[in-house]
Amino acid sequence: MDKLVTLKQRLNEIMDIQAAVAMLDWDQQTYMPAGGAEDRSDASATLSNLFHLKATAPEIGDLLEDLRPSVAGLDPDCDDARLIKACRRNYEKQVRVSSEWVMDFARSTTLAQTAWEQAKRSANFKLFQPHLEKIVGLRRAYANFFTPYQHIYDPLLDDFEPGMKTAEVQSIFNTVRPVQVALIKATAAQTQVDTSFLELGYDEKGQWDFGVEVITRFGYDWNHGRQDKSIHPFTQGFGIGDVRITTRVDQKRLATALFGSMHEAGHALYEMGFDRSLRRTPLAGGASMAIHESQSRMWENLVGRSLPFWKFFYPRLQKAFPAQLGGVDLTKFYRGINKISPTFIRVEADEATYNLHIMRRLELEIALMEGTLAVQDLPEVWNQKMQGYLGVVPPNDSLGVLQDIHWSGGMLGYFPTYALGNLVSAQLWEVINKDLPTLNAQMERGEFGELLAWLRQNVHRSGAKFEPQELVQRITGSRIDPQPYLRYLQTKYNEIYHL
Ligand code: ZN
Repeated sequence: MDKLVTLKQRLNEIMDIQAAVAMLDWDQQTYMPAGGAEDRSDASATLSNLFHLKATAPEIGDLLEDLRPSVAGLDPDCDDARLIKACRRNYEKQVRVSSEWVMDFARSTTLAQTAWEQAKRSANFKLFQPHLEKIVGLRRAYANFFTPYQHIYDPLLDDFEPGMKTAEVQSIFNTVRPVQVALIKATAAQTQVDTSFLELGYDEKGQWDFGVEVITRFGYDWNHGRQDKSIHPFTQGFGIGDVRITTRVDQKRLATALFGSMHEAGHALYEMGFDRSLRRTPLAGGASMAIHESQSRMWENLVGRSLPFWKFFYPRLQKAFPAQLGGVDLTKFYRGINKISPTFIRVEADEATYNLHIMRRLELEIALMEGTLAVQDLPEVWNQKMQGYLGVVPPNDSLGVLQDIHWSGGMLGYFPTYALGNLVSAQLWEVINKDLPTLNAQMERGEFGELLAWLRQNVHRSGAKFEPQELVQRITGSRIDPQPYLRYLQTKYNEIYHL
């Protein structure tokens, strides 16, 4: 198996370059001065191209061919067989893409991110429009490296959700949509809790320290991570031993940093939990973005918006903010952070409306890719769809079409994985609660060790060894299924809203 040793050495080098690309990106979003965008775009383009050249070198193709006979004799589920399988999949995709495209994409998205930040700050879509036009063109060109496809959106989706097809996502969403719309209607008719206490003004340090306490209890390892501030929260790993998160703090809104930190910590716990034997290989990654989101959304919502969690943490939060929360009891707080209220911002949406933000984005992305929607018309159509789906229209584009960073990074195809991640999180949660019958009591004591150990064992350890649907099937006995999530929503909100 000398060839396998050689292949692993090549993969190690490729992953090292990827870590360097990731570091440039992390720095751009945290500390790089805005004036550095042009230099950074060149450095990023060169390194991305180097990564692509190494990943598509004929030597890799030859090694994969030479290894075919020996792979046939391996247990198909062993690490080596899975590594070769994943490597073959990546290689066969990457060789279709041209070097010119890779460099153009890296350069364009680096410049677009800085333009997006300026556009968002000044609520001026026009500053971002030419960049997004360029990116949509690049993504269409990307899809066309993969002809024939069933749908032009399929190759994009496949980058984030291996094996998933647009038609399958649409079919899942068609099951979810009417149930969530009915739930929102039913709760709108009920008495609403007054949530003004969540927007009273909370000093930044108090918020930061509380978030740190929460995610430390979750198990976030500060020896292998750090938290910084960025305009859009994200998680970036540079290997299993260095997985960083960011958050943003809004003094007017307690929920922003609180749930943002929990969300990113969920991503980071996943990446910190890959088995060390997978280090510096393509298997040291998430199985897909939906599986990644199942982890972040689980810690943020199934844990972080639950009553057992707040039984432990609420007295501590009250102690940190006595003037704001001293007179608000636990029940009112719990109902407040779970209020169903259609709003502009996806990342701050409640669990009942969240998926509708995603479904709307999927429609827009598909229209952009199909060419039936022009970028210049995007803000107007965005607002129309907000009205149609949620009955609210953002007062400016900063709170509307410019709110998310994804398009500036070229990540069309990513959004559906958030909703799929919600569904998977509830599927896993049902199994977890069977396996850990005292989980609620543990959370009431601020203990998350058994939960994290379960996730490590069943989800994290294997990294990208299994494709997402296969992983979900192995753990839950079925493929991605919307029913557990819909059951979870109905049970939770029936109780909160006395439906
Ligand atoms: Zn996330």
